[in-house]
Amino acid sequence: MTALPSTHDRTLVLIVEDEESYLDALHIGLTAEGFAVLAAPTLAQARETLKSASPDIILLDVMLPDGSGIDFCREVGASSNIPVIMVSARSSEVDVVLGLEIGAADYVTKPYRLRELISRMRAVLRRVNPRVDDEVIAFGDLRLDLGRRTLTRNKEEIVLSRKEFDLLALFANRLGNVVTREECIDALWWGLELSDTRSLDTHVKRLRQKMEAVPDEPSQLLTIRGVGFRLDP
Ligand code: CA
Repeated sequence: MTALPSTHDRTLVLIVEDEESYLDALHIGLTAEGFAVLAAPTLAQARETLKSASPDIILLDVMLPDGSGIDFCREVGASSNIPVIMVSARSSEVDVVLGLEIGAADYVTKPYRLRELISRMRAVLRRVNPRVDDEVIAFGDLRLDLGRRTLTRNKEEIVLSRKEFDLLALFANRLGNVVTREECIDALWWGLELSDTRSLDTHVKRLRQKMEAVPDEPSQLLTIRGVGFRLDP
């Protein structure tokens, strides 16, 4: 039996997915975003997990080795209020899922971007529980509003590009802790290309120019040499 991750106030996500590459990437990406993650590669394991855990949301693949995610979605809907996002391999599957009205909260088609999935998840969670997305993370004299996607200092907005915001949100979700370069690249670029490592440095540099008083001597967004970065409170 796997130990359940400690959830504290984090949103608990159950990923039901048999493709290891998706499962691994999701696990890393969602953990980096501050979610607590449980994984089940089969329906049997998903059912087992639900006996002892109450996830806030379920990401459910349609085709699983021991059955159909469609049936499982109905099962979940009949026995709980946990919202389900269906993940299908082809858009033709989405048509089937939609036609059946199985009570899923939303649908995504592979391949999807992690960003897109997370914003869909947040939208679903906001619908279910309006408090969830009101998250504002404060550090120094800055406030990062994850729902509104704004960074402000003394109520003045600091305009960030999408990637800059996503990167800062990644750091802010782990305030005071190191985020490795690999985690940054996996979360933001899906770990696609090694050349992205330079792109990561460029984004960090731009963030510092926007948020640090002395960008060359950062006091908040620190480089941890050879490892990654740390945003300090
Ligand atoms: Ca599958």
